[in-house]
Amino acid sequence: MSQEPGTKTTPHCRFRSSLGLAYCQEPAYAEGFCRFHYECFLRGELLANGQINELLVDQDRRRTINFHGQPTDETLYVDEA
Ligand SMILES: [Zn+2]
Repeated sequence: MSQEPGTKTTPHCRFRSSLGLAYCQEPAYAEGFCRFHYECFLRGELLANGQINELLVDQDRRRTINFHGQPTDETLYVDEA
């Protein structure tokens, strides 16, 4: 949808995790998505409404997409040997 008068462009990615977490906090890159989620969108992993495609069955991939840009990133990504 086009930008309405007096409305600033969404400052962050409009992807919203299917886990019910906050919106992705990465800056918007194209189509309202951050670069990472825009690439996911181009692959068909995300729907135009900004949610994950339920047809995507790869759980690891879903997890990566869901957690990308989440404020809790640091606690979710633990260094593995
Ligand atoms: Zn994003």
